[in-house]
Amino acid sequence: MRTQTHCPYCSLQCGIVLEAGARPATLQPVPGGGLCSKGWTAAELLDHPDRLVHPLVRGDDGELHRADWDEAMERIVRGIRRAQSRHGVEAVGCFGGGGLTNEKAYTLGKFARVALRTPAIDYNGRWCMSSAAAAANSMFGIDRGLPFPLEDIARAEAVLLVGSNAAETMPPAMQYFDAGRAAGARHIVVDTRATPTARGSHLHLQPRPGTDLALANGLLHLAIRRGLVSQEYVDSRTRDFEKARAGVMSFWPDRVERITGVPEAQLHETLDILGSSKSAMILTARGAEQHSAGTRTAQAFINLALALGLPGKPYSGWGTLTGQGNGQGGREHGQKADQLPGYRKLDDPAAREHVARVWGVEPGELPQPGLSAYEMLDRLGTPGGVRALLVMASNLVVSAPNAAHVKERLKSLDLLVVSDIFLTETAALADVVLPTAQWAEEEGTMTNLEGRIIRRREALRPPPEVRTDLAFLSDLASRLGAQGFSDDPRTVFEELKEASRGGIADYSGADYDAADQFWPIPVGSSGNSRLFAAGFPTPDGRARFMRTDFREPAEAPDASYPYLLTTGRVMQHYQSGAQTRRVKSLRLAQPEAFAEIHPDLARARGLSPGAEVELRTRRGSGTFRVRITDTVRPDTIFVPFHWGGRSNVNALTNPVLDQFSRMPAFKVCAVAVNPLKEP
Ligand code: SF4
Repeated sequence: MRTQTHCPYCSLQCGIVLEAGARPATLQPVPGGGLCSKGWTAAELLDHPDRLVHPLVRGDDGELHRADWDEAMERIVRGIRRAQSRHGVEAVGCFGGGGLTNEKAYTLGKFARVALRTPAIDYNGRWCMSSAAAAANSMFGIDRGLPFPLEDIARAEAVLLVGSNAAETMPPAMQYFDAGRAAGARHIVVDTRATPTARGSHLHLQPRPGTDLALANGLLHLAIRRGLVSQEYVDSRTRDFEKARAGVMSFWPDRVERITGVPEAQLHETLDILGSSKSAMILTARGAEQHSAGTRTAQAFINLALALGLPGKPYSGWGTLTGQGNGQGGREHGQKADQLPGYRKLDDPAAREHVARVWGVEPGELPQPGLSAYEMLDRLGTPGGVRALLVMASNLVVSAPNAAHVKERLKSLDLLVVSDIFLTETAALADVVLPTAQWAEEEGTMTNLEGRIIRRREALRPPPEVRTDLAFLSDLASRLGAQGFSDDPRTVFEELKEASRGGIADYSGADYDAADQFWPIPVGSSGNSRLFAAGFPTPDGRARFMRTDFREPAEAPDASYPYLLTTGRVMQHYQSGAQTRRVKSLRLAQPEAFAEIHPDLARARGLSPGAEVELRTRRGSGTFRVRITDTVRPDTIFVPFHWGGRSNVNALTNPVLDQFSRMPAFKVCAVAVNPLKEP
């Protein structure tokens, strides 16, 4: 049987035709599409020998033992009731993920607020998209990753891509960039590394990590001085340009060069390209956004886009390249600490009333907003903190900032429940581990980086003792005495439509059977896949400029930690590597974490290729294999974040948070480089 569904990994959600007559299932891309090496090998996960195929419960001997579902669920119910009776309802928390389907993200948010009555819920998208989301919401009145279809990238005359290595993180997306360049478009990449994406562009700006905000301010400064501002657009479609202007007037090119290391000439060249193109896009991604000033940085690039008159113009505008598979939908349906379905605010009385009506509860029964992801994890097991935590689709021990600390906090819990497909580093700490269905074994919807709702279709039945997360959540809700939870994705989708009706992300017009064709229609927009042509979904239809003052990164190099550390991904692995590290061909291609070090720095520290190096920050240390390359800056070490144990770079990252989005500063901290031994 052939089933058309989608890749389980990133936000591109490439189409896959899965031939499931016999295992292993075979895959091919949908016609006209493409798959990267992760997508091509995704079927290996389905019958992987490491797969969890029955629940596990930790026994008195401290070990995890096979259990049946009743035993596992009763253990969870007892743990939740004990935590609630001893410490209050807020002592039970939920942690979700940007890979959950829309229906699961929605149900998890409802489960927390209705079945548990707890404010303690957030998810790993807080560490992925929250800065871009906060910026877009504050300026456009809506957060849509790309407010235009992907194919528009191929038709833009100029693209400024900031902090994305799309050639390795989502290779099939490069067809749009490549087509644009083949048609004569000019592309500029801003990246602290000379990645394959940067090397394929016309111009590569390589700033010091953590200084993209100064760069964006400098570009707006130059655009103003060179008369490139679209005054008619600014006057008719925006507000508060003076605020942004006042904030950038001190960003003279020589000052920007001193802060960022980007030569003045490249700033001018960037403006030459953007200013002389009939259409232009500015796209940001995690490299620009995962900073303590991530929201301001995204806002500064939106300022530039607005000043040039781009948003709403054909093949133009600002967008962000979402990371996780359901990064967009995952942040629209209420698994965020401050949010209800439809992208409504949890502290908005009208939103509470609407959603409470759909959920059959009183608005006053809904908890108020809780703590953001890291703030919740930082307090686990402490007085006033969460004592019993349910984790779905997140491998926190590897992916959290300051990960060694988070691991200790997880170990301090009275009850840790993890639902996953493998015994991840996080699941290995749990008191109860629940085996969940995989991507090809379940139905539901995802929302890709364009805001397109797509169907995930069941091609195989899961193993007999494996359940979907919807089945587990609805069962648990029922055991806790809560009504109104369904294990049927279509039923949940219909309810989600009602809950989102009238919200910023309004799915009420969507048809489950026609998904793949639908974009949620924001209130006040023109209602198609290209937003902002007729106005912005703000009260007056105008976009807002913001003042974006530059701050140096929270942690500067000093005598003890003299270099900068930044992190990112490799082509073969996804997120914490929980899935891709188990795929043989991917593991063989990238078997271990490594540290990219510039030849000058390697010489200074006596490092040779293949040697082991200890990297140490104020949080902790790790051991990594040295790769010497001039694609990194001499002051910066790059390490990918897909591995745990001694090679977990997130044990080193800085959990300092962006004041608006609560995004940790994953992308820059100060580091010491200590040689260990020769290969
Ligand atoms: Fe899957 Fe993303 Fe690769 Fe496409 S680009 S095959 S969605 S991992």
